[in-house]
Amino acid sequence: MYVLALDQGTTSSRAILCDRQGRIQRLAQREFTQHFPHPGWVEHDAEEIWRIQLEVAREAIAGVDATQIAAIGIANQRETTLIWDRQTGAPIARAIVWQDRRTAELCTELAPHADRIYRQTGLVLDAYFSGSKIRWLLDHVPGARARAEAGELAFGTIDTWLVWKLTGGRCHLTDLSNASRTLLCDIHKGDWDDGLLELFAVPRPLLPEIRASSALYTETDPSLFGRPIPIAGIAGDQQAALFGQGCTRPGMGKNTYGTGCFLLLNTGSRPVFSHRKLLTTIAWKIGDEITYALEGSVFVAGACIQWLRDELGLISSAAESEVLAASVNDAGGLYLVPAFTGLGAPHWDPHARGTLVGITRGTRAAHVVRAALEGIAHQVADVVETMQIDSPLAALRVDGGGAQNDLLMQLQADLARVPVLRAETGEATALGAAYLAGLGTGFWQDLEELDGQWRQAGRFEPTMDAERAATQRRGWQRALERAKNWAVEDL
Ligand code: ADP
Repeated sequence: MYVLALDQGTTSSRAILCDRQGRIQRLAQREFTQHFPHPGWVEHDAEEIWRIQLEVAREAIAGVDATQIAAIGIANQRETTLIWDRQTGAPIARAIVWQDRRTAELCTELAPHADRIYRQTGLVLDAYFSGSKIRWLLDHVPGARARAEAGELAFGTIDTWLVWKLTGGRCHLTDLSNASRTLLCDIHKGDWDDGLLELFAVPRPLLPEIRASSALYTETDPSLFGRPIPIAGIAGDQQAALFGQGCTRPGMGKNTYGTGCFLLLNTGSRPVFSHRKLLTTIAWKIGDEITYALEGSVFVAGACIQWLRDELGLISSAAESEVLAASVNDAGGLYLVPAFTGLGAPHWDPHARGTLVGITRGTRAAHVVRAALEGIAHQVADVVETMQIDSPLAALRVDGGGAQNDLLMQLQADLARVPVLRAETGEATALGAAYLAGLGTGFWQDLEELDGQWRQAGRFEPTMDAERAATQRRGWQRALERAKNWAVEDL
């Protein structure tokens, strides 16, 4: 027997077939189209997302009888916003992707409410989340608002859309981790909040029902896979990765080194409000129990390595960054702040820009590459240190492309002063969705059984002399000051 996980990401859709030992037996993946209709806008065609997701799901289970699939779990790109017609199932517009900045101005108008929004939702008031995107669609698609009020339209993040399509339009639901990213959900109550709905002018009939992250929700339409398969787990991709990394107890945290970095720390049944520009979010709801997390996102991490490769040509592959950086003992006083699109947590400076400081006549390509790796590790260390003010983090479990870099992982342990544990699986997100679904149907009994499945493929302890690490951290802080508030118009 297997569990099928659908991992619907920002640039590609994957499907994995997972066995009872948590091993990935099959993986199918395909990219889909990114639409950039205006500067700062990013859209996805929801029908294409569904078509490709179904294709990879069928590919992953090819030759396996549907009776052998115990459950389906979904992990999805978060916050991306879609509205469709309940009658025809047709989207009223393309989905507005989380990266889309078109509602930044609307968020500025709502700024006087930012404190209350933070207290209720744990989120900073930003165009990143769904609330302002829903409002934008209702205000700009002709007739949408009236139809939403009449109950003719449905809103969903991508999980909700996939469940709708998987059930032939029978079910309109989401899980609490996804709902907690909309700015419309009170994370203390774990439900939509009328005051927030009013603030964002979102009619209640538009909204899906909020369910737990692991539960037997429904079954797929029999026409899709030959017979119905239970749908039993849903979580936003970063929360799914936290679960897939086995971070199921307070104090356990994971960082994913992809294009950017996403660090989530399990804080247990208590929402921790850092008041230091970290997000407080729902990790998952299992049974009646809500687990909360602190989250910090770094916008540019692996993307900086791509820049060294594609724009500067200093390396020919991402893996080569390790070889070149290891050819020097240190960065020779050089600091690279990869604030290409501003700075995320904990600085949140949209005007910061990439900065390379400390260049001397002796600076070589190897120093630049090493400074890039150190820059990634420093950014993550900034988030770790901020989190630790409010909530202890015992060790950092890591995944994603950059986690394969031994030097980067050692620098991470040295600069953040925490042990770094590399997971054997490269597919923590999909695995988390599989785990939630398997728990929801009794395929796995409990968290203890899943804990036993986490396998370590590397461990990095802080070994750098504490004083040297502190000196480097101070240098980084000074470099950060040079990068902040750079792209201001009246310079
Ligand atoms: P995403 O899902 O965001 O596309 P992945 O987890 O697939 O990210 O990781 C790809 C990213 O990891 C790329 O940005 C790449 O530059 C970076 N990367 C891959 N291998 C390495 C490596 N050995 N060292 C540093 N960065 C790496």
